[in-house]
Amino acid sequence: MQGLMQTWPLTVDKILDHAKNWHTDREIVSRSVEGPMVRTTWGEVHTRAKRLSNALKGLGIQKGDRVATLAWNTARHIEAWYGIMGMGAVCHTLNPRLFAEQLCYIVNHAEDQVIFTDLTFLPILLEHRAKMPSVKHVIVMTDEAHMKNVAFPGALCFETLVAEHSADCVWGDFDENTPAALCYTSGTTGNPKGVLYTHRSNFIHTLVTMGRDVMGIAAADTVLPVVPMFHANAWGLAFSCAAIGAKLVNPGQKLDGASIYELLESESVTFSAAVPTVWQMLLTHMRENNLALSTLQRVVIGGSAVPEALVRAFRDDYGVSVTHAWGMTETSPLGTLASPTGKTAKLSAEEQLRFTLKQGRPPIGIELKLVDDEGNRLPHDGVTFGKLMVRGAFVVGEYFKGDGGEILDDEGYFDTGDVATIDPDGFMQITDRAKDVIKSGGEWISTIEIENIAVGHPKAELAAVIGAAHPKWDERPVLLVKLMPGQTGTKEEFLAFLEGKIAKWWTPDDVVFVDDIPLGATGKIDKKLIRLRMADYVLPTARPAGVGAKETA
Ligand code: ADP
Repeated sequence: MQGLMQTWPLTVDKILDHAKNWHTDREIVSRSVEGPMVRTTWGEVHTRAKRLSNALKGLGIQKGDRVATLAWNTARHIEAWYGIMGMGAVCHTLNPRLFAEQLCYIVNHAEDQVIFTDLTFLPILLEHRAKMPSVKHVIVMTDEAHMKNVAFPGALCFETLVAEHSADCVWGDFDENTPAALCYTSGTTGNPKGVLYTHRSNFIHTLVTMGRDVMGIAAADTVLPVVPMFHANAWGLAFSCAAIGAKLVNPGQKLDGASIYELLESESVTFSAAVPTVWQMLLTHMRENNLALSTLQRVVIGGSAVPEALVRAFRDDYGVSVTHAWGMTETSPLGTLASPTGKTAKLSAEEQLRFTLKQGRPPIGIELKLVDDEGNRLPHDGVTFGKLMVRGAFVVGEYFKGDGGEILDDEGYFDTGDVATIDPDGFMQITDRAKDVIKSGGEWISTIEIENIAVGHPKAELAAVIGAAHPKWDERPVLLVKLMPGQTGTKEEFLAFLEGKIAKWWTPDDVVFVDDIPLGATGKIDKKLIRLRMADYVLPTARPAGVGAKETA
C-alpha cells in the first residue's frame, strides 16, 4: 500500500521559486568583479536565471549535461547556478585555487560543455583551453562594456545572453534524483574525485541546515557567506538563504580582512560563515585598526578546526557567538555542528567552550559511527580514537564515474578519512586526518590539538604539526611556527606555552620557525607540501651527537 499524499519532487528550482514568490524584493548585494557594489533581488535573480536556462538550451545544453562555473560569489554566479540546475543540467563548481593541471583534469573528467567564468580567470582558461576539448562555449560573467577588453576568441557575454533570451522556461519537470551539481574533492589524497549531488539531496540538506541547531538562519537575517560557492557549495547558503528569504551579501573576490569588515558593517550583516584563516585575517584587521562589530551576531566556522583563541576573541572582544562545524564535499557539506544540548546549555560559558571547540553533533539526516581498523564499532566515551564513518540523506554513495570503486562499508557508511572521538553527550571531535595523525610508540598523537593550542601563543600567526621519523618511537611531533610579522621566538617559549595543556609525551621534539605555512586550495594547511619541504629534516632527538639543526622549511 502507498501513502496518499501529493507527489512534490524535491528539486532545487522550487527553492528559487519560493524566494521569488514570497521574498521577491529581498536584496542580494554583491561586490562585483568589475569593482562596484551591485544590488539585486531574489525576484530579479529568478527571472535572469530562467533567461540563462533558455540561453543554455540555445547553446545545445540538455538535461544531464555538465556546465561549469569558475567564479567568485556574486549574484551572477547564483543566477548561473540556478539557471543550470533549474533546466536539469549539472552545475559543476570549479575551484580556481587548484593548480591548472588539476583544473584541466577535472574539466575533462566531468566533460564540461560550457564554462561560466569571471573576468579574473580568463587568462588561465585562455592558456589551457586547448587541453579542455569538451568545452564548447565560454560565457564571461560581465557586460558588453567589459567584453571590449576581452581577448578570448568566441567568448560569449553573460549580460547579452540574459538580455537576448526570454524568461519563459519550465523548470524542474524531472525526477528528484536527477543530478543537480558536481563538486570535486580538492585531491589532497590522489586525483580529485567528483561528488554528484541530486536535487533531492540538496533539497534535504537545505531543509536540515535551516534548523536552529544547524545554520539557523531566519528571513530577517543578512547573511555573508565568505565561504566560496566553489568550496562545498558555500555550505549550502546559496540554497538556504533563498529558501528562508534572507538578504544575501556576496563578497566577490575580495576576502581580505579589510574588505570583509567593510561588508559586515556597510550591509549590517548578522550571520556569516568562513574557514578559520578568513576570521584570523578579519580579527587582525580589527585589532590593528581598533574596530568594533555593530550587527554581527553569529558565525559558523568550519573546514578546519577552530582554535580556542578565535572563539574567545569573537565571544569576549566582539560579542559574536561561534558555531563550530565539520563537514566535507562528500557530505554536501554539513555533517556536524557544535550547538549546545539541553545539558550543555546549562553550563557556564567557560565550561561550554569545551564543547564549542569540538566539531559537534549530527543533525537529522546524518548518522555517525567510530570504528577501528577492522571495522569494529568503538565506544562513544570521548577518549577512544577511531575512524569516523558517516551515512545519510546527503552523503556520497559513490564517486562520479565510479572512481575509487566501492566506497561504502557493509552497513552503507562512508569512511571520511578523519580520526575522531565521540563523547557521551554526542559531540564528535576530529583528532586528525587519518594520514596526518602521528603514531608514536604505537599510540596516536593529535596534530590538530597541538596546533590549536600553539596558534593561541600571542606571537604565532600559524602553526602546523607533522610527524618526523624517530629511531625509537617511529614518529615524533615537530611544531612549525610562522610568527607574526616582526616577532622573534624561541623553541623554549613555545614548549613552555604547551606545558600543562597537552599530555607530556605529546610535547613536540622540536620547534622550527618558518617563513611560510602553505595553505591548500580550500584554505587548509597543506601538510603534504610541508612534509615535502621537510623531507631532509632530522629531529634533534634522532641526530647523531654534535650535529646541529638544519632549517629546511
Ligand atoms: P578536501 O577533503 O578535498 O580537502 P573538503 O572541504 O571536503 O575538502 O574537506 C573535508 C575535510 O576537512 C574533512 O574530512 C576534515 O578533515 C576537514 N574538516 C572540515 N571541517 C573541519 C573542522 N571543523 N575541524 C577539523 N577538520 C575539519
